[in-house]
Amino acid sequence: MEQLRSPFQLPPLPYPYEALEPIISAETLHYHHDKHLQTYVDNLNTALSDCPECHGRSLEELLKNLDRLPEPKRTAVRNNGGGVYNHLLYFNCMSPGGGKRPGGSLAAAIGDAFGSFDSWKQLMKSAAIGQFGSGYAWLATGPDGALSVVKTANQDCPLSQGLYPLLCVDVWEHAYYLQYQNRRADYFEAWWRLVDWPEVSRLYTGCLACRPPRP
Ligand code: MN
Repeated sequence: MEQLRSPFQLPPLPYPYEALEPIISAETLHYHHDKHLQTYVDNLNTALSDCPECHGRSLEELLKNLDRLPEPKRTAVRNNGGGVYNHLLYFNCMSPGGGKRPGGSLAAAIGDAFGSFDSWKQLMKSAAIGQFGSGYAWLATGPDGALSVVKTANQDCPLSQGLYPLLCVDVWEHAYYLQYQNRRADYFEAWWRLVDWPEVSRLYTGCLACRPPRP
């Protein structure tokens, strides 16, 4: 998403609306992508429209450096820039052919960091279910390459905490309420069957490649 720069445009979903049926319905994706995400895009562009120093910066740059923004713009970029970035990652990390297991260096790193893939899944599920109110659970990597599971509130993004996000599950009710109502754990288990591991691995390998070598 490094290429995204203001003014931002809503990219299409990377698959047809019905592609994730029956796990995530076409109706849910229509509202989630075309209404909720579009609103974050519009509000971000409005917030940046009178901020010349923000123009030309990528979404990642904005979120990594919130404290360098003019003070009146920080909350709007945190909420709406996060709303754009987080949703794009969420949609991109699901696939109709997903739900298998990671391979290669990511699988090894998950084993090293969490003991096993299943232990990591439990941590991720606890973070998703334990996030009070709206937010996300994440798999992220730090500047030292260490993997971690974090949860964030609202549209806060791990980029603003110095982490690089690899995978997220949106636990705002709008992500699941039409099908799963209050059953967030059921939604998590359903989402799990859609995770696009090749895409997560691509992000992991890419972020290792752009990290400066250790001294
Ligand atoms: Mn959402």
